Order: sequence, then C-alpha cells, then structure tokens
Amino acid sequence: MVPLRAVIEGETIIGPDISEEEWKDLAVRHRNGLPVTMGCCGAPGHLRVSKKGTQHFYHAVDAGCHFEEESKEHLEIKYQIYRICQSEGWETWVEFPAPDRTWISDVYALRDGRKIVFEIQISTISPSVLEERDLKYQAQGIESYWLLDHFLGRTKDFASGYEAHIFEKAGRPGKKIPYINDSLFETGPENHIFIAKGIRSAGLDAQKQTLFTTNNPEIPLAVWVKEVLKGNYQRYLEETAAGYNRKRRLLIMAAPALIRFQEFYEKIIRSGIYKEKAGRCQRMSRTTAQRINDKAREKKFQDISAEIDWLEKEYRLLVSESSGLFSWKKIPGYPAPGLYFRLESESDVKKIQEMIEIFTRWEESFERALGEPGREFPVDKKMK
Ligand SMILES: [Zn+2]
Repeated sequence: MVPLRAVIEGETIIGPDISEEEWKDLAVRHRNGLPVTMGCCGAPGHLRVSKKGTQHFYHAVDAGCHFEEESKEHLEIKYQIYRICQSEGWETWVEFPAPDRTWISDVYALRDGRKIVFEIQISTISPSVLEERDLKYQAQGIESYWLLDHFLGRTKDFASGYEAHIFEKAGRPGKKIPYINDSLFETGPENHIFIAKGIRSAGLDAQKQTLFTTNNPEIPLAVWVKEVLKGNYQRYLEETAAGYNRKRRLLIMAAPALIRFQEFYEKIIRSGIYKEKAGRCQRMSRTTAQRINDKAREKKFQDISAEIDWLEKEYRLLVSESSGLFSWKKIPGYPAPGLYFRLESESDVKKIQEMIEIFTRWEESFERALGEPGREFPVDKKMK
C-alpha cells in the first residue's frame, strides 16, 4: 500500500527525500497526466501523504504486489531506518531490488564494501520462509537484519530445532544428557536463530517503534540501527554464539562420561549392587567346598568390602561442592536440589573422564576377584 519509491520521468524518486514544494508540484503534474510508476512492481501509482506527513506512493490498481499489504507502521520504520543510515554516512536505498529481482529489501545500506540490508517483518513469517529469504542475502555476502514483530511467539519454533541440534551432536538424539542444567543453553530468540541458522534478528514492537533482545526489553530504533552499523550487534550475536558453542563442545566431550557416571550412581548408591554381589559371593564361598582356608577367604572379603566403601567415598567426594566439578542447584519446579556438572573447562571434563576410567577399572577387577575365589583383591593396586 505504501512504498516510498517510484519512477517518474525515468528518474527514481524517494518520496520523503524531496521537498514539500517539489512534492506538491509533482502531484499537480501527476493529476494532469504525468505517469508515476511504482518502484516495487512497475504498476501505475499515485502520490499520497501519510497522517504523520510521510510522502509516499500507492498502487493505482490491485497489482498483486506484496507491497500493497505493507502497513503504515512498516512504512514509518522503514523510512526512519533509511534516514538513520544516511545520517551515519552510509549510502542508502529503500525498497532496493536485487539485480535479478529475486528480492527487494526494505533498506539497503552500503559503506566501505560492507553491505547491509534491513528487513521489517510485521506479519508472521515461518522459520522456513525466513531461512529461505535470508539465504538469498547470505549467498550474496549481504549482512541482513530482520526486525521481527511477534517475535517471542515464534521462539518455540526456533528453539525446538535448536535443542535437537545439541542433543543430536552429543550422541543422544531425543534424550537429555544427565547432570546438565538446560539453562546453560537457554538464551533469547535472536541468539537461537543466529546459532541455529546464522540469521541476524531482533524483536520489533511496531507500535512503539522499539526493538528488544534477550537482555534488553526496549531499545530505541535509532540506537539499535547505529549499533548494527558499527558492527556491535553482529559482535554481540557472535560472542553469544561462541560461548554457546564452547559449552556445546564441552557437553559433547563430557556426554559419554556423564552417562557412565549416572550408571555408577545407580550401582554404587542407589541399588548398592557391589555390596550385594560381594555378600552373595561370600555366603556362597562359605557353603561350597574350599581350596583356600577360611582366614584367607575372610581377609579377601574384608578387602573387597573396604574397597566398596572407598568407592562410595570417592563418589560422594566427587559430587560434593568441594570437588569443583558438580554443583547442587535448586531448579524451580523440583522439590529437591539437583546435581549438575559444571561444564566450565576442558580440564574439568578430563577429571570426570579419569574418574570414570578408575571406576571402570575397579569394576573390572571386582568382577574378576569375585569370579576367581583364590584371586587377590584388589588386582590393580595402581588404581588409587
Ligand atoms: Zn508494487
């Protein structure tokens, strides 16, 4: 309904750029037969001034052009971005078409080889359409920024793809890794989309003409546009993504050990499986024919029992706050605090991996000792 750009006498005119007098003069000449061609689609157009005083063009006929559906808010925001970019010294266009006309961007700004596009999206857009449209910019080396209204409502669409992304990489599609606090990977929608798809965006409140992000509920349009032009917004997205990717790499690295750790919790603490097994073997060895004397046998089971106590102690030490590897956190919605791996450094991950190796070797020697009545225990003295 309301584009800013038209072609008159072979010349591109940006409505708000010309003076009020020139505009009035054009309007008179247009009424007297001077043709106006819409910049968006080439259909015939007319001149008009919005309530806020913005000089613009509108389609004379229903041309099936998507600009016909553009709202008043869209026009105002587009024009403001255009003016901000200009005042910051960027060469700027509105409704800028691709050479092959596969896209027309709301605002296109150029400086020192850096090409930036701003797209205002007031109506709902599906993640797949957004991605498809953004890929066209990515393919041409254009930095695109999407101002998305109804942004939070769409977070879920992006977040679901994003979660699958983590757990798939960690080798457990559809399953969560134990001892991982999901909130480590939670961030706002603009980060979700950037991490998952490389798409730059911000939330838009079209009525107020302000933007919002994860950490900032209200950013004036001009402030945000200037941050984009300075490259700060891109840096913010990249830094958040780098932090996220670092955590994700640690998670992928730690996942097998954490899964094993949960198995040991089951065996050591929850079901006391080693104690039970050792007790059963001891009872059996007392009742069956023995090749070793009673004293040696009792000594062996004392050793095993001491080893099991040692294992339990090691386990409890590891999950205590003092080990620095885990923390107990109260998560809203859960009655008791949960145990979470800190996931802070590679050396922490190595520590848990080493402990898992020690536990595994212990378990093997335990099984061997029980399997062979005459065998000394522990088999591997170095494991402590
Ligand atoms: Zn059009």
